[in-house]
Amino acid sequence: MTQPAGLDPTRPNYDGLMTQRTLGQPATARPDDDIQRVLVVSAHPDDCDFGAAGTIAGWVDAGLRVTILLCTHGEQGGFDDTNREQMPALREREQVTASAALGVTDVRFLHGHRDGWLEPSWELQRQIVEVIRDVRPQRVLIQSPERGYDRIQASHPDHLAAGEAAIRAIYPAAENRFSWPELIEAGLPPWHVNEIWIMAHPQTSHVVDVTDTFGRKVAALEAHASQTGHLGDKLEGFLRAWGVAVAEAFGLGEGRLGECFHIMDLG
Ligand SMILES: [Zn+2]
Repeated sequence: MTQPAGLDPTRPNYDGLMTQRTLGQPATARPDDDIQRVLVVSAHPDDCDFGAAGTIAGWVDAGLRVTILLCTHGEQGGFDDTNREQMPALREREQVTASAALGVTDVRFLHGHRDGWLEPSWELQRQIVEVIRDVRPQRVLIQSPERGYDRIQASHPDHLAAGEAAIRAIYPAAENRFSWPELIEAGLPPWHVNEIWIMAHPQTSHVVDVTDTFGRKVAALEAHASQTGHLGDKLEGFLRAWGVAVAEAFGLGEGRLGECFHIMDLG
């Protein structure tokens, strides 16, 4: 019997997986109507705003509940002599302000991970599993664990580590009741994620038209003033040129702006 997608959070929908997809072809995105909750996992404050702010704003507008999880506080970022001890709190405030511009109020930070030193450790995986089981997202947006050699800045080692830890947390750990059984005792039962969206993957296959939410993307990036303030008026132009290039690559049409992703459907 074919199990309707997403109804049983603890069981992968293997029948649906095989009937909905053609082997060898990239997965297509599920309709937003099928999604209630999204978890965004990234290494540093500002990462998900550069890669996906317009898309996230669109999800909020569609009624999806979005949680943003940061693995570090980004204390190695910035271009001036701001006291490094002040950076974690500063960047936390900037991320909260940036996310508010998109309509996201649930912003969480993991502790114990040094910016620039992030590894897909068991501790990091366990912390992400905890958040997955608490939020119970159908869709998780992560960074690419695979390096893209044509734009190395998007493949910062911390981004690769956050992506690797997140994908290991999604499968198998979050849905396996034998991984960290103490989490079940703490009231966090297994949870099956249906869909993964990956930012800055070497092979992107899905585009989101973010023309209508672009203004909020600019506002979000301006909120990361410690990272973008030095760009001044050039910030919007830079973001717009990037969005135009994506839109043109995916044929969105004249004057449109896009963000692109690789999508995995987990059934
Ligand atoms: Zn980053």
